[in-house]
Amino acid sequence: MSFESELKRIMDEIVQNLPPEINVKKIEFEGPEIAVYSENADVDAIESSTILKDLAKTMRKRVVFRWNVDKRKDPAETESYIRNLVNEDAEITSIEFDHTRGEVIIESGKPGLVIGKKGVNLKEIRTNTFWQPRTIRTPPLHSRTIQLIRGMLSKERQTQKDILLKIGKRIHRPVLFKDLKIRLSALGGFREVGRSCILMQTRDSNILLDVGLNVGNPNERFPFFEIPEFTIRDLDAVIISHAHLDHCGLVPFLYKYGYRGPVYSTLPTRNLSTMLQLDFIQICEKEGYPSPYSKRDVKSTVLHTIPLSWGKVTDIAPDIKLTLHNSGHILGSSMVHLHFGKGDYNFVYTGDFKYQKTRLLEKAAVKFPRVEALLIESTYGGPQDRIPSRQESERELKQILNSTLKRGGKVLIPVLAVGRAQELLIVLEEYISKGFIDKVPIFIDGLISEATAIHTANPDFLSSDLREKILHQGKNPFLSDYFETVSAQEERLNIITGGPCIILATSGMLIGGPSVQYLKALAEDPNNALIFVSYQVSGTLGSRVQKGFKSFNYVDAKGRTQLVKINLKIFTLEGFSGHSSRSQISQFLRRIQPRPKKVLVCHGEESKAISLSTMIHKKLRKSTAAPKNLETVLLK
Ligand SMILES: [Zn+2]
Repeated sequence: MSFESELKRIMDEIVQNLPPEINVKKIEFEGPEIAVYSENADVDAIESSTILKDLAKTMRKRVVFRWNVDKRKDPAETESYIRNLVNEDAEITSIEFDHTRGEVIIESGKPGLVIGKKGVNLKEIRTNTFWQPRTIRTPPLHSRTIQLIRGMLSKERQTQKDILLKIGKRIHRPVLFKDLKIRLSALGGFREVGRSCILMQTRDSNILLDVGLNVGNPNERFPFFEIPEFTIRDLDAVIISHAHLDHCGLVPFLYKYGYRGPVYSTLPTRNLSTMLQLDFIQICEKEGYPSPYSKRDVKSTVLHTIPLSWGKVTDIAPDIKLTLHNSGHILGSSMVHLHFGKGDYNFVYTGDFKYQKTRLLEKAAVKFPRVEALLIESTYGGPQDRIPSRQESERELKQILNSTLKRGGKVLIPVLAVGRAQELLIVLEEYISKGFIDKVPIFIDGLISEATAIHTANPDFLSSDLREKILHQGKNPFLSDYFETVSAQEERLNIITGGPCIILATSGMLIGGPSVQYLKALAEDPNNALIFVSYQVSGTLGSRVQKGFKSFNYVDAKGRTQLVKINLKIFTLEGFSGHSSRSQISQFLRRIQPRPKKVLVCHGEESKAISLSTMIHKKLRKSTAAPKNLETVLLK
């Protein structure tokens, strides 16, 4: 069967399943969604009826309804209608029209008020203007990245639509092979941490889970793309679990080499990944080695990204459906559930996950419709990897801060821009407002402020109590005036010569960035303190300092090297980790529903991956393995 005849078959089936009064004008395959354009459909009536559910059940396809173009009201008229209808308190900042999809995009400070009780305003807008309203949030802190992405998308609506139509045709092509075979190839991030990349193949389809780079070791930067199983031309989809460079850092590299298919991730993952990829280009320039991709490739990535919410089942290939679930690691981080064939085989990739509620996020999901095989991370999977409880680490943090500040010292906390930084901001804000520590300035340097601004744009992905605080009590800890953003070199010098303070700076592993500059300035004074709160990849300066090295070579902006003595006090607080401890991994494996038959282990140093795999085999009596990079595992 040809592509075209399969598409025609799907269209005919949709029309047959619809009540005849819905006068279908056109059906389009917009990426994973099938858009039905109708002359006189009452979209609200359709949505409140069982039509969409029935279609989803019988055809297993996601169908959306749109009005035909000629029905839509004039944009200027529509805009004034919306502004009149919606209460001023909603703080509408812009109203924009996407003619290619018939959507009106309403950006506002309080999207809840635009939506209205039970969506009453949206209904009004739809029935009176025939535009499909979509609400987005103006971040209360300005985010350059979000502004850039929204600008790109609004200028390139037609390009994006064309991209979706191409992707849609590919997704809905006919299945050629009836007997399902599934294999997993380890391209990177197996028996190591960094450059995560997994190739999943059936006889019909090819997808990549994560396309990361190794930040710690430039010699092992790339996943093994050269393995014969992998060709960019055959790739159907890329799925990104979360926005850390070791998972998302090389996506634009695929576009540089001709990939034109989709990237699936949550919305915050798209925003944060874009920020990190653009920053990575700058880091490369600064460090004097060529960046593996350019800004243009990052733009292609954005235009090809299809944001998904958690729990939404999405067709990504003729024989594969994807659903993302919360993984509790950082904002928007997801576990990836893949459903193969007609549901005969289901696979879950945990990505990086935390099976414990934190201040920022809910704990990772454990319930799935079906799971035959599981691929699990093992960052803290070693037998010695006991992570102290959050309470313990928070208590210790309080003590370190108090004793250091009291003796006139400064506290440096190197953090990854995304995740631990925001978790700590919430903790520090509470400590000061409750009087647990002295009210000293908290300086935020590097990408942290930008990442925090992106957090404020996506409160739906935060933990329920934090969301409640922000959305319903008007208390947003990220907006506290205890925090001071640092961007200029002059400000840094003032901080270094100034009084006691707390400094949160990137990079989290002391590889370049302001954190190294602060370390150089603070290292020789024993009154100061350095606190590690996140995993230090081996080979990084962070890992060496953590292990107790007494000096390091600092290379200044002019390339001159200087030996710096390390006298400041070094602490490690593992309790803030965004990864599950060995016991949390065990708990997760005991609670996951249904129980997988096979468990594969990745994302951990060799000894940890093997040790966790052995433990799972002995205690949980599962078939397990800790594959090596370049290994291929036949799942079915
Ligand atoms: Zn991560």
